[in-house]
Amino acid sequence: MDRFQGKNFYSKVYAKLGDGKFIQFWIDNWCGMEALRIRCPNLFKLERKKRCKLADRIKQYDGNWELAWDWTRIPSSEVERQELETLLGMMEGRTLSFGRDSWCWNWTGQKDSDFSVRALKKAMVEEYQQVGFVMYWIKWVPIKCSINAWRAACQRIPTKTELRRRDVLTGSVTCSMCEDQDETVEHLFTGCVVAMEVWARIAAWCKIPPIYAFDVKDLLELYKTVAGNKKRKKIIHGIIIASMWAIWLARNDKVFNRKETKAEVIVEKIKANTFWWFKNRISCNNFVWNEWWRNSMYLM
Ligand SMILES: [Zn+2]
Repeated sequence: MDRFQGKNFYSKVYAKLGDGKFIQFWIDNWCGMEALRIRCPNLFKLERKKRCKLADRIKQYDGNWELAWDWTRIPSSEVERQELETLLGMMEGRTLSFGRDSWCWNWTGQKDSDFSVRALKKAMVEEYQQVGFVMYWIKWVPIKCSINAWRAACQRIPTKTELRRRDVLTGSVTCSMCEDQDETVEHLFTGCVVAMEVWARIAAWCKIPPIYAFDVKDLLELYKTVAGNKKRKKIIHGIIIASMWAIWLARNDKVFNRKETKAEVIVEKIKANTFWWFKNRISCNNFVWNEWWRNSMYLM
């Protein structure tokens, strides 16, 4: 866990505090050898915004600072209170400044050097894929679909590129659906022309702006950016997870059965599946197929 290219990621990279607007309070390592989500796992569970920034939690007034929490409930158990004490101890003597947050690394064991944002992002992406992704699970979607999405986020889907990396596959790694680029998780779910058409149709069906996703995380965090109430966000997130499942099945059909499925047909299947899954979960007599097929937001 927490290893990057065979080295301990957190012991090599650490944040230098600036204004706290870039560094994530719980997820990045800014106050020691480990991120707070690992040091204080019970408090992390209570955090409402897992990806909040330092500046969201540390408020400064005239040289003093205080903490601004957003808990799902107040920490009250013995272990939660202990973690809170540890955390406050680690915060002693730290201040935010007006400069930008920056990253340092001592990769080579020599003098610390500044870490470029580009290198950092790449490292963080790889690191998240191992451990840090916070998945929002939706009850009305079958568990197999959620597991598929979660595994995709962790790069644990047996794509051709992944199989070749593990020496399971020796042939071509070209995507079977578009036959244009290598089949990676990112390509399959975001970059492939088939996936892009699926997302365009899903956006139109859900009455949301066009979906621009560059990796699986963008898809699984899309619900956070769509307008509307919690119910609407939950429906959209469920549809995204169901769509990833449908894309994966279409891909398997092509790879194993040589059967091609057009994006339009994939979306028809998504509409039918989600209709039945959703109907089984909610008690609403007005929930009818024709309306759902036309607009997934018609109940809103
Ligand atoms: Zn493709």
